[in-house]
Amino acid sequence: MFNENPELIITSLDKQIWDEELENFVPKNIFDVHTHIYKWSFNQDPKKDIGERNFQGKYFSEVSMRFADQVDQLLMPNRVVNRLSFPFPFKYPCNFEGSNEYILEQTKTLTENKCLILINPNMDKNYIEGLLLKNNIKGFKPYRFYSKTKDTINCKILDFITEEQIEIADKFGLIIMMHLAKKDAIADDDNINDLIYLSDKYPNVKWILAHCARSYSAWALEKGIKKIRDLKNIWYDCSTVCESDSIDALYQGVGLEKIMYGSDDMIGRMRGKYITFGKAWSAINSDNHNLALSHCDDRMTFIRYEQLRAMKRGIRNSKITESEKQDLFYNNAKNLIDSVNSRN
Ligand SMILES: [Zn+2]
Repeated sequence: MFNENPELIITSLDKQIWDEELENFVPKNIFDVHTHIYKWSFNQDPKKDIGERNFQGKYFSEVSMRFADQVDQLLMPNRVVNRLSFPFPFKYPCNFEGSNEYILEQTKTLTENKCLILINPNMDKNYIEGLLLKNNIKGFKPYRFYSKTKDTINCKILDFITEEQIEIADKFGLIIMMHLAKKDAIADDDNINDLIYLSDKYPNVKWILAHCARSYSAWALEKGIKKIRDLKNIWYDCSTVCESDSIDALYQGVGLEKIMYGSDDMIGRMRGKYITFGKAWSAINSDNHNLALSHCDDRMTFIRYEQLRAMKRGIRNSKITESEKQDLFYNNAKNLIDSVNSRN
């Protein structure tokens, strides 16, 4: 399946960007804190194969750890990649039990690779606590699609993860991977106030705010970060953020020790780029734009490469050392994951 996948071919443009811009930047050991491991069959929407994410079913119908390893070796040759991985949050109807069984099975024998389980606010407490007997689980992946309000855009944190679930995370000192909702993300007062309230009430929870706190360009971080920078239990991943000003704002805002690499695969390996304008952001790819490009090389590279370019330029301005680079790509993540204690 891997060798025949037309999505996984390295072009001369990809090779040139890797060789000239990234090979010397990306360290040998990597801890990716944001990988989705799943089967397309866990998406139980009968219309899924004509939906916007149908490429997943077509080219990435089963993303196992082995498959993720192969993708990483193709895009970042000779790197050793460990992962904090979790299921893909398909919209309802989603097979949560199957998703969680699969991620557990995929991470059970690999000592460095750990996982989060996919939860929704209606999930039975006993089911969650039963799964937590497995020590390879390091926390929860909630998602805005599962909002109790049915509003998946403007929902607050507690609309898609309950306080009872956060209490469990607090009891065991677990990680919660949080993709903030609401149009202004980390610049939204509800999100800021909720993070302050939840950090104070549940101090043992370790929050990862995905996608630079969902700030694909700098403005949201510049506006919001000063209000939460002193919260000790919040970390950030850079997954799929392709603008160096955003990485720079995060670095300036919270310091390098709170920032981690994430791929968001199999999103990061798609060709295109997350672009921003005004207060908007979205993924551009060769099928959804109409730009005139005859004056230049019009090919697109992987979102992953655009993200790594942004990370390189975002932190180069701050002149980080080699050892800080190791922290960014590996140590920060490893230390955070290791800080979640075994439960038996
Ligand atoms: Zn993701």
